[in-house]
Amino acid sequence: MLKKRRAIVTGGAGFLGSHLCEYLLNRDYEVICIDNLLTGDLRNIEHLRSDSRFEFIKHNIVYHIDISDKLIIDEIYHFASPASPIDYLELPIQTLKVGALGTHNTLGLAKAKSAKFILASTSEVYGDPLEHPQKETYWGNVNPIGPRGVYDEAKRFAEAITMAYHRYHKLDTHIVRIFNTYGPRMRAKDGRVVPAFINQALNNEDLTVFGDGRQTRSFCYVDDLIEGIYRLMQSDYHLPVNIGNPCEMTVLEFAEKIIKLTNAKSKIIFKDLPEDDPKIRQPDISLAKKLLNWSPQVQLEYGLQKTIDYFKSIKDRDR
Ligand code: UDP
Repeated sequence: MLKKRRAIVTGGAGFLGSHLCEYLLNRDYEVICIDNLLTGDLRNIEHLRSDSRFEFIKHNIVYHIDISDKLIIDEIYHFASPASPIDYLELPIQTLKVGALGTHNTLGLAKAKSAKFILASTSEVYGDPLEHPQKETYWGNVNPIGPRGVYDEAKRFAEAITMAYHRYHKLDTHIVRIFNTYGPRMRAKDGRVVPAFINQALNNEDLTVFGDGRQTRSFCYVDDLIEGIYRLMQSDYHLPVNIGNPCEMTVLEFAEKIIKLTNAKSKIIFKDLPEDDPKIRQPDISLAKKLLNWSPQVQLEYGLQKTIDYFKSIKDRDR
Protein backbone atom coordinates (compact mmCIF):
# COMPACT_ATOMS: atom_id res chain seq x y z
CA MET A 1 0.00 0.00 0.00
CA LEU A 2 1.20 3.49 -0.87
CA LYS A 3 2.26 5.57 2.14
CA LYS A 4 -0.06 8.51 2.79
CA ARG A 5 1.68 11.81 2.18
CA ARG A 6 1.24 14.78 4.49
CA ALA A 7 1.36 18.38 3.31
CA ILE A 8 1.27 21.77 4.97
CA VAL A 9 -0.38 24.69 3.19
CA THR A 10 0.37 28.15 4.61
CA GLY A 11 -2.37 30.60 3.71
CA GLY A 12 -4.59 27.54 3.35
CA ALA A 13 -7.80 29.46 4.13
CA GLY A 14 -7.20 31.94 1.33
CA PHE A 15 -8.34 31.85 -2.28
CA LEU A 16 -5.52 29.76 -3.77
CA GLY A 17 -4.64 28.00 -0.51
CA SER A 18 -8.13 26.60 -0.01
CA HIS A 19 -8.22 25.23 -3.57
CA LEU A 20 -4.83 23.66 -2.96
CA CYS A 21 -5.98 22.01 0.30
CA GLU A 22 -8.97 20.58 -1.55
CA TYR A 23 -6.80 19.35 -4.44
CA LEU A 24 -4.39 17.60 -2.06
CA LEU A 25 -7.22 15.94 -0.12
CA ASN A 26 -8.58 14.67 -3.43
CA ARG A 27 -5.17 13.10 -3.98
CA ASP A 28 -5.48 11.49 -0.56
CA TYR A 29 -2.94 13.62 1.26
CA GLU A 30 -3.27 14.51 4.90
CA VAL A 31 -3.37 18.29 4.95
CA ILE A 32 -2.43 20.78 7.64
CA CYS A 33 -3.74 24.23 6.78
CA ILE A 34 -2.09 27.16 8.56
CA ASP A 35 -3.63 30.62 8.31
CA ASN A 36 -3.93 33.66 10.58
CA LEU A 37 -7.15 34.68 8.79
CA LEU A 38 -5.87 38.18 8.07
CA THR A 39 -7.11 37.94 4.49
CA GLY A 40 -8.10 34.25 4.58
CA ASP A 41 -11.60 33.17 5.56
CA LEU A 42 -12.78 30.05 7.42
CA ARG A 43 -15.74 29.85 5.05
CA ASN A 44 -13.30 28.86 2.30
CA ILE A 45 -12.45 25.66 4.14
CA GLU A 46 -15.63 24.90 6.08
CA HIS A 47 -16.48 22.06 3.68
CA LEU A 48 -13.11 20.42 4.46
CA ARG A 49 -13.16 20.60 8.23
CA SER A 50 -15.17 17.44 8.86
CA ASP A 51 -12.57 15.43 6.91
CA SER A 52 -10.38 13.55 9.40
CA ARG A 53 -7.36 14.01 7.09
CA PHE A 54 -7.66 17.81 7.37
CA GLU A 55 -6.43 19.98 10.21
CA PHE A 56 -6.66 23.75 10.57
CA ILE A 57 -4.17 25.69 12.70
CA LYS A 58 -4.77 29.39 13.27
CA HIS A 59 -1.29 30.88 13.37
CA ASN A 60 0.70 33.81 12.03
CA ILE A 61 3.75 32.26 10.36
CA VAL A 62 5.75 35.43 11.01
CA TYR A 63 6.24 33.69 14.38
CA HIS A 64 7.85 30.26 14.90
CA ILE A 65 5.73 27.46 13.48
CA ASP A 66 5.34 24.64 15.98
CA ILE A 67 4.66 21.24 14.42
CA SER A 68 5.14 18.12 16.57
CA ASP A 69 8.56 16.44 16.13
CA LYS A 70 6.78 13.15 15.60
CA LEU A 71 4.84 14.32 12.57
CA ILE A 72 6.34 13.52 9.18
CA ILE A 73 5.76 16.32 6.67
CA ASP A 74 6.42 15.50 3.02
CA GLU A 75 5.54 18.75 1.25
CA ILE A 76 5.10 22.40 2.23
CA TYR A 77 3.14 24.79 0.01
CA HIS A 78 3.93 28.34 1.14
CA PHE A 79 1.00 30.51 0.05
CA ALA A 80 0.45 32.89 2.97
CA SER A 81 0.40 36.55 1.95
CA PRO A 82 -1.97 39.40 1.27
CA ALA A 83 -2.32 39.37 -2.51
CA SER A 84 -4.33 42.32 -3.71
CA PRO A 85 -3.07 45.85 -4.45
CA ILE A 86 -5.47 47.37 -1.91
CA ASP A 87 -4.22 44.91 0.71
CA TYR A 88 -0.67 46.14 0.14
CA LEU A 89 -1.83 49.69 0.86
CA GLU A 90 -3.69 48.65 4.02
CA LEU A 91 -1.28 45.97 5.24
CA PRO A 92 2.17 47.03 4.04
CA ILE A 93 4.15 45.85 7.08
CA GLN A 94 2.29 42.53 7.34
CA THR A 95 2.90 41.97 3.62
CA LEU A 96 6.64 42.55 4.03
CA LYS A 97 6.83 40.45 7.18
CA VAL A 98 5.03 37.40 5.85
CA GLY A 99 7.09 37.45 2.64
CA ALA A 100 10.35 37.79 4.56
CA LEU A 101 10.02 36.41 8.12
CA GLY A 102 7.16 34.07 7.20
CA THR A 103 9.13 32.58 4.34
CA HIS A 104 12.18 32.19 6.57
CA ASN A 105 10.14 30.31 9.20
CA THR A 106 8.45 28.12 6.61
CA LEU A 107 11.79 27.24 5.02
CA GLY A 108 13.14 26.47 8.50
CA LEU A 109 10.24 24.09 9.04
CA ALA A 110 10.88 22.45 5.66
CA LYS A 111 14.53 21.97 6.62
CA ALA A 112 13.67 20.51 10.03
CA LYS A 113 11.23 18.09 8.38
CA SER A 114 13.30 17.42 5.23
CA ALA A 115 10.15 18.33 3.35
CA LYS A 116 9.81 19.48 -0.22
CA PHE A 117 8.96 23.18 -0.42
CA ILE A 118 7.23 25.39 -2.95
CA LEU A 119 7.06 29.16 -2.78
CA ALA A 120 4.08 31.00 -4.22
CA SER A 121 5.87 33.80 -5.99
CA THR A 122 4.31 36.18 -8.46
CA SER A 123 4.46 37.95 -11.80
CA GLU A 124 4.91 41.09 -9.65
CA VAL A 125 8.62 40.20 -9.44
CA TYR A 126 8.73 41.47 -13.04
CA GLY A 127 7.24 44.83 -11.91
CA ASP A 128 6.16 47.05 -14.81
CA PRO A 129 7.90 44.84 -17.37
CA LEU A 130 10.09 46.07 -20.19
CA GLU A 131 10.09 42.59 -21.74
CA HIS A 132 6.92 41.10 -23.18
CA PRO A 133 5.74 38.40 -22.73
CA GLN A 134 7.66 37.76 -19.52
CA LYS A 135 10.11 34.85 -19.47
CA GLU A 136 11.58 33.48 -16.24
CA THR A 137 14.98 34.82 -17.30
CA TYR A 138 13.76 38.45 -17.14
CA TRP A 139 15.00 40.26 -13.98
CA GLY A 140 12.17 42.74 -13.81
CA ASN A 141 11.52 46.45 -13.48
CA VAL A 142 10.36 47.02 -9.90
CA ASN A 143 10.02 50.27 -7.97
CA PRO A 144 11.25 49.19 -4.52
CA ILE A 145 9.77 52.18 -2.69
CA GLY A 146 6.39 52.49 -4.43
CA PRO A 147 3.10 51.31 -2.88
CA ARG A 148 3.39 47.87 -4.53
CA GLY A 149 7.05 47.56 -3.52
CA VAL A 150 6.05 45.96 -0.20
CA TYR A 151 4.69 42.96 -2.07
CA ASP A 152 7.11 42.89 -5.00
CA GLU A 153 10.23 43.17 -2.87
CA ALA A 154 8.94 40.74 -0.22
CA LYS A 155 8.40 38.15 -2.94
CA ARG A 156 11.78 38.90 -4.52
CA PHE A 157 13.37 38.40 -1.09
CA ALA A 158 11.31 35.21 -0.68
CA GLU A 159 12.70 33.89 -3.97
CA ALA A 160 16.24 34.78 -2.92
CA ILE A 161 16.02 33.05 0.46
CA THR A 162 14.35 30.01 -1.13
CA MET A 163 17.26 29.67 -3.56
CA ALA A 164 19.71 30.16 -0.67
CA TYR A 165 18.09 27.29 1.28
CA HIS A 166 18.23 25.19 -1.86
CA ARG A 167 21.88 25.94 -2.59
CA TYR A 168 23.22 26.07 0.97
CA HIS A 169 21.01 23.57 2.82
CA LYS A 170 20.30 21.40 -0.25
CA LEU A 171 16.59 21.72 0.39
CA ASP A 172 14.29 20.43 -2.37
CA THR A 173 12.66 23.76 -3.23
CA HIS A 174 10.49 25.08 -6.05
CA ILE A 175 9.29 28.54 -7.03
CA VAL A 176 6.11 29.22 -8.96
CA ARG A 177 5.56 32.69 -10.40
CA ILE A 178 1.80 33.06 -10.41
CA PHE A 179 0.12 35.36 -12.93
CA ASN A 180 -3.40 36.83 -12.50
CA THR A 181 -5.63 33.99 -11.37
CA TYR A 182 -9.38 34.02 -10.77
CA GLY A 183 -12.17 31.76 -9.61
CA PRO A 184 -14.56 31.03 -6.76
CA ARG A 185 -13.48 32.11 -3.25
CA MET A 186 -11.82 35.35 -4.26
CA ARG A 187 -12.96 37.99 -1.79
CA ALA A 188 -15.78 40.05 -3.26
CA LYS A 189 -14.25 43.24 -1.95
CA ASP A 190 -10.54 42.61 -2.31
CA GLY A 191 -10.34 45.25 -5.04
CA ARG A 192 -8.83 43.04 -7.71
CA VAL A 193 -10.26 43.45 -11.15
CA VAL A 194 -12.12 40.13 -11.45
CA PRO A 195 -14.19 40.36 -8.23
CA ALA A 196 -14.53 44.13 -8.62
CA PHE A 197 -16.03 44.01 -12.11
CA ILE A 198 -18.20 40.95 -11.49
CA ASN A 199 -19.71 42.38 -8.31
CA GLN A 200 -20.24 45.79 -9.86
CA ALA A 201 -21.99 44.12 -12.79
CA LEU A 202 -24.14 41.88 -10.56
CA ASN A 203 -25.29 45.00 -8.71
CA ASN A 204 -25.82 46.94 -11.96
CA GLU A 205 -23.26 49.47 -10.76
CA ASP A 206 -20.81 51.16 -13.11
CA LEU A 207 -17.60 49.24 -13.78
CA THR A 208 -14.56 51.21 -12.61
CA VAL A 209 -11.82 50.96 -15.21
CA PHE A 210 -8.57 52.45 -13.94
CA GLY A 211 -6.59 54.67 -16.32
CA ASP A 212 -7.63 54.42 -19.98
CA GLY A 213 -8.10 50.66 -19.66
CA ARG A 214 -5.45 49.90 -22.26
CA GLN A 215 -3.24 48.11 -19.72
CA THR A 216 -3.30 44.35 -20.26
CA ARG A 217 -3.62 41.29 -18.05
CA SER A 218 -3.83 37.55 -18.78
CA PHE A 219 -6.27 35.55 -16.66
CA CYS A 220 -5.84 31.95 -15.51
CA TYR A 221 -8.61 29.86 -13.96
CA VAL A 222 -7.75 28.58 -10.49
CA ASP A 223 -8.04 24.84 -11.32
CA ASP A 224 -5.47 25.17 -14.11
CA LEU A 225 -3.11 27.02 -11.81
CA ILE A 226 -3.36 24.46 -8.98
CA GLU A 227 -2.63 21.59 -11.38
CA GLY A 228 0.50 23.39 -12.61
CA ILE A 229 1.68 24.05 -9.05
CA TYR A 230 1.24 20.42 -8.06
CA ARG A 231 3.19 19.22 -11.08
CA LEU A 232 5.99 21.66 -10.32
CA MET A 233 6.20 20.40 -6.73
CA GLN A 234 6.66 16.85 -8.07
CA SER A 235 9.37 17.93 -10.53
CA ASP A 236 13.11 18.10 -9.94
CA TYR A 237 13.36 21.67 -11.27
CA HIS A 238 14.42 24.33 -8.77
CA LEU A 239 14.46 27.64 -10.62
CA PRO A 240 11.30 29.80 -10.96
CA VAL A 241 8.56 28.69 -13.35
CA ASN A 242 5.74 30.90 -14.69
CA ILE A 243 2.26 29.48 -14.33
CA GLY A 244 -0.57 31.45 -15.88
CA ASN A 245 -2.74 31.73 -18.93
CA PRO A 246 -1.23 33.65 -21.86
CA CYS A 247 -4.69 34.76 -23.04
CA GLU A 248 -4.03 38.52 -22.82
CA MET A 249 -6.56 41.35 -23.07
CA THR A 250 -6.93 44.97 -22.12
CA VAL A 251 -8.76 45.84 -18.92
CA LEU A 252 -11.34 47.68 -21.03
CA GLU A 253 -12.01 44.55 -23.12
CA PHE A 254 -12.30 42.61 -19.90
CA ALA A 255 -14.89 45.04 -18.52
CA GLU A 256 -16.95 44.70 -21.72
CA LYS A 257 -16.77 40.91 -21.47
CA ILE A 258 -18.07 40.94 -17.88
CA ILE A 259 -20.98 43.22 -18.80
CA LYS A 260 -21.89 40.87 -21.64
CA LEU A 261 -21.61 37.67 -19.58
CA THR A 262 -23.73 39.08 -16.73
CA ASN A 263 -26.26 40.88 -18.97
CA ALA A 264 -25.70 43.89 -16.73
CA LYS A 265 -27.05 47.36 -17.43
CA SER A 266 -23.82 48.82 -16.06
CA LYS A 267 -21.79 51.48 -17.83
CA ILE A 268 -18.02 51.77 -17.82
CA ILE A 269 -16.49 54.72 -15.97
CA PHE A 270 -12.83 55.68 -15.78
CA LYS A 271 -10.86 56.32 -12.59
CA ASP A 272 -7.24 57.22 -11.86
CA LEU A 273 -4.65 54.56 -12.59
CA PRO A 274 -3.00 53.41 -9.33
CA GLU A 275 0.70 54.21 -8.96
CA ASP A 276 3.08 51.71 -10.62
CA ASP A 277 0.21 49.71 -12.14
CA PRO A 278 1.96 47.45 -14.70
CA LYS A 279 1.04 48.44 -18.28
CA ILE A 280 1.33 44.98 -19.76
CA ARG A 281 1.46 41.46 -18.39
CA GLN A 282 1.50 38.11 -20.14
CA PRO A 283 3.29 34.95 -19.09
CA ASP A 284 5.61 33.09 -21.41
CA ILE A 285 4.75 29.53 -20.42
CA SER A 286 7.10 27.62 -22.74
CA LEU A 287 9.09 26.38 -19.74
CA ALA A 288 6.02 25.00 -17.90
CA LYS A 289 4.85 23.33 -21.11
CA LYS A 290 8.18 21.63 -21.68
CA LEU A 291 9.03 20.79 -18.09
CA LEU A 292 5.62 19.87 -16.68
CA ASN A 293 3.68 19.04 -19.82
CA TRP A 294 1.24 21.63 -18.52
CA SER A 295 -0.88 24.20 -20.25
CA PRO A 296 -4.16 25.85 -19.22
CA GLN A 297 -7.30 23.95 -20.22
CA VAL A 298 -10.15 26.17 -19.01
CA GLN A 299 -11.62 28.67 -21.46
CA LEU A 300 -12.04 32.20 -20.10
CA GLU A 301 -15.83 32.32 -20.64
CA TYR A 302 -16.31 29.01 -18.84
CA GLY A 303 -14.13 30.01 -15.89
CA LEU A 304 -15.76 33.43 -15.64
CA GLN A 305 -19.23 31.87 -15.66
CA LYS A 306 -18.25 29.65 -12.71
CA THR A 307 -16.87 32.69 -10.92
CA ILE A 308 -20.00 34.74 -11.66
CA ASP A 309 -22.16 31.88 -10.32
CA TYR A 310 -20.06 31.84 -7.16
CA PHE A 311 -20.43 35.56 -6.56
CA LYS A 312 -24.18 35.28 -7.18
CA SER A 313 -24.35 32.51 -4.58
CA ILE A 314 -22.66 34.65 -1.92
CA LYS A 315 -24.23 37.95 -2.92
CA ASP A 316 -26.19 38.43 0.26
CA ARG A 317 -23.43 37.17 2.48
CA ASP A 318 -21.24 39.61 4.36
CA ARG A 319 -17.74 39.30 2.82
N1 UDP B 1 -8.43 47.52 -12.33
C1 UDP B 1 -9.43 48.32 -12.81
N2 UDP B 1 -10.56 48.50 -12.05
C2 UDP B 1 -10.71 47.92 -10.83
C3 UDP B 1 -9.69 47.08 -10.34
C4 UDP B 1 -8.56 46.92 -11.11
O1 UDP B 1 -9.35 48.87 -13.93
O2 UDP B 1 -11.78 48.14 -10.19
C5 UDP B 1 -7.23 47.32 -13.15
C6 UDP B 1 -5.93 47.63 -12.45
O3 UDP B 1 -5.60 49.00 -12.58
C7 UDP B 1 -4.95 46.74 -13.18
C8 UDP B 1 -5.81 45.53 -13.60
O4 UDP B 1 -7.16 45.96 -13.49
O5 UDP B 1 -4.47 47.37 -14.35
C9 UDP B 1 -5.60 44.32 -12.70
O6 UDP B 1 -5.68 44.76 -11.38
P1 UDP B 1 -5.70 43.78 -10.13
O7 UDP B 1 -5.97 44.63 -8.94
O8 UDP B 1 -6.64 42.66 -10.37
O9 UDP B 1 -4.27 43.13 -10.00
P2 UDP B 1 -2.83 43.38 -10.63
O10 UDP B 1 -2.82 42.60 -11.89
O11 UDP B 1 -2.63 44.85 -10.90
O12 UDP B 1 -1.91 42.88 -9.61
